[in-house]
Amino acid sequence: MSRTPGTVGAVRDELAPLLGPDGVLEHPAQRRTYAADGLAALREVPPLVLLPSSTEEAAACVRACRRHGVPFVPRGAGSGLSGGAMPHPDGVLIGVARLRRILDVDLANGRMTVEPGVTNREISAAVEGHDRYYAPDPSSQIVCTIGGNVAENSGGVHCLKYGFTTNHVLALELITAEGEVEWLGAPTADSVGYDLRGLIVGSEGTLGLVTKVVVRLLRTPESVRTLVADFTTPRDAGDAVTAITASGIVPAGLEMLDHLAIQACEEDTGVGLNRDAGAVLLVELDGPEAEVDREFEAVQACCREAGATAITIARDAADRARIWKGRKAAFAAMGRLAPDYFVQDGVIPRTALGDVLERIADLSSEAGYRVANVFHAGDGNLHPLVLYDGTRPGEAEEAEKVAARIVELCVDAGGSITGEHGVGADKACSMPAMFGEEDLAVFERVRRALDPDGLANPDKVLPTPRLCGESPGPYRPHPLEEAGLAERL
Ligand SMILES: Cc1cc2nc3c(=O)[nH]c(=O)nc-3n(C[C@H](O)[C@H](O)[C@H](O)COP(=O)(O)OP(=O)(O)OC[C@H]3O[C@@H](n4cnc5c(N)ncnc54)[C@H](O)[C@@H]3O)c2cc1C
Repeated sequence: MSRTPGTVGAVRDELAPLLGPDGVLEHPAQRRTYAADGLAALREVPPLVLLPSSTEEAAACVRACRRHGVPFVPRGAGSGLSGGAMPHPDGVLIGVARLRRILDVDLANGRMTVEPGVTNREISAAVEGHDRYYAPDPSSQIVCTIGGNVAENSGGVHCLKYGFTTNHVLALELITAEGEVEWLGAPTADSVGYDLRGLIVGSEGTLGLVTKVVVRLLRTPESVRTLVADFTTPRDAGDAVTAITASGIVPAGLEMLDHLAIQACEEDTGVGLNRDAGAVLLVELDGPEAEVDREFEAVQACCREAGATAITIARDAADRARIWKGRKAAFAAMGRLAPDYFVQDGVIPRTALGDVLERIADLSSEAGYRVANVFHAGDGNLHPLVLYDGTRPGEAEEAEKVAARIVELCVDAGGSITGEHGVGADKACSMPAMFGEEDLAVFERVRRALDPDGLANPDKVLPTPRLCGESPGPYRPHPLEEAGLAERL
């Protein structure tokens, strides 16, 4: 299939009259904005950006791509951390910035229908005064879109108890790679037949473009209690995590920050975490008041038995918000410690927390790169941040190797290459570390069943020779760029 700029031009000519000037971005300065997602090391300026403002327009975009054999990449807010929304060099980027309407709020049935460009936070904000909220809460919730959340099956600090995006999406409207508009799932609690909705959640834009989402709304819990427990070492904090979960308590949130992460968060937000602690645990319980009170006592006992040196209890909602502000700012706060960082996303069995954290610390001192750890301890989802200075030659490459080694540690410990940030372009070549050839072949057959021409977000998720034959790695300026003779758009 020919993939030339000429065919992108044909897509533009066909769609310009329908989308209008606000819906077709061609100017280099406009297109440059979309060159990368949150994984800035992987960059590609898209030849064309399309911004449809309705399902019909979005379907017309996908159909035009199909007719002209042009790949398309769906894009939400671009906060993804695995290069999933990185543009294709010969394709178009389809953004959802003009699909931002809340279409229906059904409080009686506890559901809401939204367009994919609505942000995660806007969903809960829309029902705040009605005793309802949307549970999955990625730390990026102020900017990330529900379409991106669906594509990544995103999690957040409260997913330990309530589950990931897939547990809160009842139905969705999908434009298949062939341009058909389909509703999958049902707005009722259970639907009959194959769970095709479940297939789309977590498919990272490789099976089509999501244009509407029906989400489940939960009742605000009667009681919420939050504490911060200080520990001398991450291993002690890990022991407390094991004890809490072994006791049968399922906290709404159970997060850990190590010493370095505490320094960054305090520098940035000054929320009052103990800078002398080797690690802190943030524990939140919610539910009926009597149950929460009883379990809160038990959690404190677990922390003390594991060696907590201090326990601070949030006094009220404002105090709770202050604590979570520190945690949610953690990635951005790393800028206080180093100009650049690689954020890893691996999963390990909860019981391996202490061992794996110690091995990460050894790796960090051997390699000479600081690693801060801030993560969803309750479900063993690590987010080690490898700090480096990209202006120093070779540091990005070395730091990337440390990050890759950490993922290997996770797989060796019986875990996974990704928890919630997705595979994207970044980890497609690591898929064989987890899946055999036959598994990958099954994935490929499923993908081809929905996208026979291979146009929906190609070169993402599954390893391909084009992607993995030549690892993309961190951005390095071309000698011509350094000489000022060429510019990367
Ligand atoms: C500071 C920070 C903190 C974060 N914290 C968390 C966290 O706690 N938990 C977590 O899970 N993630 C977290 N993330 C990662 C990221 O925010 C999530 O993956 C989020 O869901 C991406 O949403 P987005 O709108 O930015 O999607 P994008 O980055 O634009 O796209 C992500 C993927 O989804 C696809 N996609 C986007 N929209 C659609 C659509 N409408 N239809 C089909 N495919 C689509 C894209 O092709 C791409 O593959 C964090 C990121 C940052 C920068």
